[in-house]
Amino acid sequence: MALLVQKYGGTSVGTIERIHRVAERVAQSHRAGDQVVVVLSAMSGETDRLIKLAHEASATPDDREMDMLLSTGERVTVALLAMDLRSRGLNARSYTGRQVGIITNSVHTKARIARVSADRLREALAKGIIPVVAGFQGINEQSDVTTLGRGGSDLSAVALAAALKADRCVIFTDVDGVYTSDPNVVPAARRIDKISYEEMLEMASLGAKVLQARSVEFAAKFNVPVEVNSSFKEGKGTLVTREDADMEAVAVAGVTGDRNQAKITMVGVPDKPGIAAKIFGPVAQANINVDMIIQNVSQDALTDLSFTVPRADLRAATPLLQAVANDVGARSVAITEAIAKVSLIGVGMRSHSGVAAKMFEVLSREGVNIMMISTSEIKISCVIAEKYLELAMRSLHTAFGLDRVVQGEQSAK
Ligand code: ASP
Ligand code: MG
Repeated sequence: MALLVQKYGGTSVGTIERIHRVAERVAQSHRAGDQVVVVLSAMSGETDRLIKLAHEASATPDDREMDMLLSTGERVTVALLAMDLRSRGLNARSYTGRQVGIITNSVHTKARIARVSADRLREALAKGIIPVVAGFQGINEQSDVTTLGRGGSDLSAVALAAALKADRCVIFTDVDGVYTSDPNVVPAARRIDKISYEEMLEMASLGAKVLQARSVEFAAKFNVPVEVNSSFKEGKGTLVTREDADMEAVAVAGVTGDRNQAKITMVGVPDKPGIAAKIFGPVAQANINVDMIIQNVSQDALTDLSFTVPRADLRAATPLLQAVANDVGARSVAITEAIAKVSLIGVGMRSHSGVAAKMFEVLSREGVNIMMISTSEIKISCVIAEKYLELAMRSLHTAFGLDRVVQGEQSAK
């Protein structure tokens, strides 16, 4: 008998018909003798609908009230599923985040979990109850409702699995796992059987949206095995777990693309101590996340400094950057929006050499110019012109032997 936390996402509980199907799955696990704790999202589109309503009620909705509002979406689905399960003769009960003891800090709309007591869940399980818990929500020390940031019901599920020392946390969603690349861009992408927390984190933050990044951090910290699987069909999913020898054997586990960055170049900046601090200090103060930074060799004591920022922050950043440029005596500021970042990810990079060289060679063969490069232990990223992103992703996917082998064809390795 295993203890499983099963989380179902918004599309899996989007209609009553789908809630029936979730009930069927839960009942099946229960019949198989497993103890199941269910965590649910709101119906798909519901959280967006509530946010829209909030902005109609007020131009600047209050954070605390926003959480009071947003937490209602998950209350609806847990009650409906519990009703369904009960009408099947199963002893199911719904619970809010507060009732299961998810205590967070007070940063409304993106609260961090401080602790999870889960006593009520343990008692329920001991009585043979199937708990159905509202994801995405908790309470702060003052008992005010908080929410955990978009996609936060993944985090609720992982946190409860950690607190209960569950055997596995299964995230049921509309895809059957984590893929080597975005299948919409790279048709030859294939499902990965097993991926390390670290790789998953890089994939999540670089644009693979299967799991909320913070839920992966949490799972890594408490060593919770997380399985991503489809709620619509039976079959294998992807296990996110600790790094092992199999994972190290492959140099590259995945290829990601990110169109959310823009490139800023400060042209003709004096090359002297203190300039970088003068540029990036105000940028950081404005809460703009700088990703890559490159400084050229200087000529006549002048240099060019390029960096990337989220495209969404560009409008807010532009006047600020202009002011900073004037302040440091830069000749001009150039902004390029049509860039993209292509990245290779793999824990195997630690032990395989030549991954970067091969990446550059593949891009050059396709005639793709590299504007910026950044590397970490398990990742290499290149900034290129946005129009080449799909071509770059596909070529790299093939070159690193990631393409799915179609029956009757030979691997192109
Ligand atoms: N309903 C919340 C959202 O849409 C939380 C979740 O679905 O994970 O972000
Ligand atoms: Mg989600």
